[in-house]
Parts: sequence; C-alpha cells; structure tokens
Amino acid sequence: MLLEKANAPLVAADIAAPSPGPGELLLQVRACGICRTDLHVARGDLTEPKLPLVLGHEIVGTVVARGEGADRFPEGQRVGVPWLGWTCGACAYCRSGRENLCERARFTGYDRDGGYAEQAVADARYCFPIPDSYDDVHAAPLLCAGLIGHRALSAAGDAARLGLYGFGAAAHLVAQIARHQGRRVLAFTRDGDAATQAFALELGAAWAGGSSEPPPEPLDAAILFAPVGALVPAALRAVAPGGTVVCAGIHMSPIPSFDYALLWGERMIRSVANLTRKDGEEFFRLANEVPLRVSVETLPLVEANEGLRRLETGRIQGAGVLVP
Ligand SMILES: [Zn+2]
Ligand SMILES: [Zn+2]
Repeated sequence: MLLEKANAPLVAADIAAPSPGPGELLLQVRACGICRTDLHVARGDLTEPKLPLVLGHEIVGTVVARGEGADRFPEGQRVGVPWLGWTCGACAYCRSGRENLCERARFTGYDRDGGYAEQAVADARYCFPIPDSYDDVHAAPLLCAGLIGHRALSAAGDAARLGLYGFGAAAHLVAQIARHQGRRVLAFTRDGDAATQAFALELGAAWAGGSSEPPPEPLDAAILFAPVGALVPAALRAVAPGGTVVCAGIHMSPIPSFDYALLWGERMIRSVANLTRKDGEEFFRLANEVPLRVSVETLPLVEANEGLRRLETGRIQGAGVLVP
C-alpha cells in the first residue's frame, strides 16, 4: 500500500520486490502494526517522508534472503523491524549511547519503505529476534507501542503512581509492565469513553476516567500518548511536586500557555524521541518475562486506509495490525 502524497488515501500498487543491499535482509512480512506515527505521516503532520512511501514500522517478518554480510539472522528466522532503521554510528549522539537522536538517523516507514507490504527490506543490525511466546500478529505492536512505551516508562523514573493519558496501543502495554513493577496505574481516556475505561480497569488500572477529570490522587508521573497539547497543562496539574510529564508521541497539537505555578515545585516536562537498540533489547527481555496481553484488531493489508481511519477516530481497542 503506497502513500503517494499526504492527505490522500494509500493506494494498492504492485511494485518490484525490493532487493537487500549489503547488510540488509529481505523479509516476507507476516504482520505490521498500525502506529499513530503512520497517521501523522499520512496526514502530513510529519512533513518530510520519502515519497512514494510504504508506511509501517512495526514489522514482523521472516528472513527470505540476505544481502552481503547480513549474517546476523539465518534464512527462515522471524525478526521484528522497528522505527529506527539506520544510524550513522559516528555523530556525538551515536557515540554516547543516544542513537535515538542521531542527526542522520533514517526511520522505517518514513525515510525507508516499511511494512504495509508483502515484502520489506531492513538493515539486519536494527532488527530484533522476537520471543516465541508471541505470535506474529501479537508481536507486531511490541515493535513500537511496546518499545516506545518502555522508553517512556523509563523516562518516568520510579514513579509509584503513574498516569497514562490516551489508553491505546502503547498505554495498554505500559500499564501491564507498570503493574508488574508494582506501580499504581491511573488511566485517562477520551471523555466519556466507557469502553476504554473498562478495558484499562481490566488490565489492572486502579482508576480510569476522562482526561479532563482530575485523578482521585496525585500522580508521581504522567505519560502522554494522546497527541493533544492541552493535556500537558492538565497532566502538570495532576502530578505532585517533583513529578514528570513525559510526552511520548512524535507529534502533538500546540500546547496552550499555562501559569508557571503548574511547573513550579520541580515538576518536569520532557519528550521521548525514537528508540535505541538497547531499549529494544531491554524491552524484549521484559516481554519475555511479563506475559503481556496484547490486544489487537487485525485487518487485511488492503484495508490499511480503514485501519488508519479507525485509529484516528479512536475505534481500535489496543492495537491495529495489518496482515498481508
Ligand atoms: Zn549518528
Ligand atoms: Zn510507532
């Protein structure tokens, strides 16, 4: 499925099978998750995609061919491909363990073709082996929702009372990890979204309510997965002194101005950008140890546009996954 330009539906197209270059794998795609970032690319919020583009950076695929020197995984092995597709290895960020900020980083389904396709090519060094306990469809959302969720949770520090704003693909996984770590989870959904609030409670949240409601107790940290700038002051209001508000999305509507008093008391606001391979290794170790219940809605690949629409209108419980 090809994105030819922003704000136009993806188009089903027959394109030549990609061939793996040096260090690259050719994968038969078994499943690809639909991430909110895909929506931001398709809708033109992120303005510099390669075009035409194959979206998708939560790819689970089987190695069918290997380019020169790509001997990290054997043919037939199942691997996962995340958003971070390539880094330079030479800049100050790459050399200090912060390859997520690499100045020349290339991203899957943005600078490189992704997984809304039957086949995909990926640099073997950025792929992850997938724990056997997850089938293809349930493993796909782990590659971004899970991974970025994990990085955001790490950025929240050791917060005992954790607020999650926007209870979708990432939050439903973070909630389970946070519960496993013994934290209290408070889930904020769109106002009046009783179904998602019930879903959050079922996954162990201590409280669930609308994002305009104050929580019943102060939070030590909040993670914002919803791309809504107005939630930043709302979350600052909900966190106790010393608390952190982590913005986990790649794009957000403008943040309204707010009184300094909301930030006072050593409250912090920070963002989380991309991922490092180390995040992935840590996260998959966790996913092996905590049996995550991954809630998915699958659609055939040709219905990618419908999947994006459902995500946009909040009609996916958990994560949407495309299956070729
Ligand atoms: Zn770099
Ligand atoms: Zn993503």
